[in-house]
Amino acid sequence: MAEYLVKEVSGKMDFKGKTVIVTGSSRGIGFAVASAFAELNANVMMTGTGESVHKACEELRKKGFNVSSFAGDISDAATAQSLIDVTVDTYGSVDVLVNNAGITRDKLLIRMEEEDWDDVLRINLKGTFLCTKAAIRLMMKKRSGRIINISSIVGLMGNVGQANYAASKAGIIGFTKSIAKEFASRGITCNAIAPGFIETSMTDALSEEIKEMYLKGIPLGRFGTPSEVADLAVFLASDKASYITGQVINIDGGLYM
Ligand code: NAP
Repeated sequence: MAEYLVKEVSGKMDFKGKTVIVTGSSRGIGFAVASAFAELNANVMMTGTGESVHKACEELRKKGFNVSSFAGDISDAATAQSLIDVTVDTYGSVDVLVNNAGITRDKLLIRMEEEDWDDVLRINLKGTFLCTKAAIRLMMKKRSGRIINISSIVGLMGNVGQANYAASKAGIIGFTKSIAKEFASRGITCNAIAPGFIETSMTDALSEEIKEMYLKGIPLGRFGTPSEVADLAVFLASDKASYITGQVINIDGGLYM
């Protein structure tokens, strides 16, 4: 396997010269992941659907980080390809792809419209497929790369009102394992992160009653933070994770075990 080369500088990982794409990084987990890589000197391409990703990028650029932004719907094939092309034009390559962009359209199945199903599967699962397919060609040529897919514990355990979301996140797990097998010989690893309840705008939308219910089931007794997920993504992209592929790593305070 090709050497991946993430150096350590004074005990800290250093991604200098490495390029990381984080889809859906205008806020929440994606923003924390983009920030964590930027702090470790990576070139980071942030994405979102609109103006907010440019603002988020500006916030990090003001801190002196090497970040750029791309606005577009990653579930559109031409847009996903253009994200990779723009990243290569800007930074020369793609070393790490974090497929994080995702949405929910929660409804009980009986009320779930075909559109609710299609939107969630298209953005969460097809978007992951399209970005991976576009980026992996470059990684194959370099015989090195890291793909990190953000799934969810809901993809492992199911959830009332989330049949569409659970199917998309379970789909990401099957996709992750297939990519891990297909590209291991090319020096590319592919893993999934399955967060539990992480405090972001996605979970803010839930009622206090539902939040209380989740909290009761979390052995560590609190919700997770986006930066805790970011630390795991950084680890999986580093040399320290060179022998890990095809895995689903839960980060959920023990909610699902
Ligand atoms: P969030 O705060 O709602 O952020 C979602 C991000 O995805 C935003 O940056 C949004 O960009 C982007 N996005 C949505 N549709 C997109 C599209 N078609 N193309 C490109 N970008 C798109 O969500 P989050 O809570 O941080 O969740 C991030 C990921 O973690 C998701 O995949 C989610 O399913 C997963 N997850 C979250 C939790 C949790 O507890 N929060 C738990 C398990 C898994 P715009 O703002 O530009 O629309």
